[in-house]
Amino acid sequence: MKHYFMTILLMTTMLSGCFGDEGVFEEERGIPGGLALACLQDDKFQKMKIHFLYEDGYDPIAMDLVKTRLQEVCDKPKGVSILADEVDFAIDTIWSSDDVRDARWKHGDDAMDSQTLHWYFLFPAGTYTDDSVLGVAVDASTIAIFKDSVEAAENIIQRPSSEEIERAVSVHEAGHLLGLVNLVYESPIDHEDPDHPGHSNNDNSVMYWAIETNDVGNLITGNLPNTFDADDKSDLAGMADGTIECSNQIWP
Ligand SMILES: [Zn+2]
Repeated sequence: MKHYFMTILLMTTMLSGCFGDEGVFEEERGIPGGLALACLQDDKFQKMKIHFLYEDGYDPIAMDLVKTRLQEVCDKPKGVSILADEVDFAIDTIWSSDDVRDARWKHGDDAMDSQTLHWYFLFPAGTYTDDSVLGVAVDASTIAIFKDSVEAAENIIQRPSSEEIERAVSVHEAGHLLGLVNLVYESPIDHEDPDHPGHSNNDNSVMYWAIETNDVGNLITGNLPNTFDADDKSDLAGMADGTIECSNQIWP
């Protein structure tokens, strides 16, 4: 057993030596926004599949809404489709970003095949390491929504309700995969919240920072936004038509 372990350790060391410091994985999986143009343009991917992987009892409720919001901004002439699969993630306590990435690449396939772009939305049991976080985007094609935390974020008067919060968080994280706000480009409009980088300063945008925190019920009362605002849409349109330059794109 000891010998076996040593061999594995040696091989791992040799492999990481070949590739340098984890560079290969990062390049393939990218950062949130790294597949923004792959969605916004149709040059390479004419089709898109949104995969929802959920633990038993954690069924996503915003699948159609996410599809609608992506169709509103992305160029997919051969369509956007939804695939939902129940998965036993084998973790139901605390999730790190690495756990989310590992689970997605274990249970899902590549983000890019010859004609189709694949994005993955995970709905595990349990919470993020910081349990005030309701959702995370962890690489160019992967997000997770923590429904246990979404339900706990509902305030006592249930306005907004946990369903509304889940819808908003789902679209919010999809927005990060589209590069919002300023993740892989620089907006000509001053609408990024300096105190919460990567987020909108408009509380009527789904990209407002508080949407993905458990304070959402206290900070936004009444109707939660689940749409991108005019500034977000202007950024996405500029990225799509090339007037806004994008960095860190992982597709050829
Ligand atoms: Zn966010």
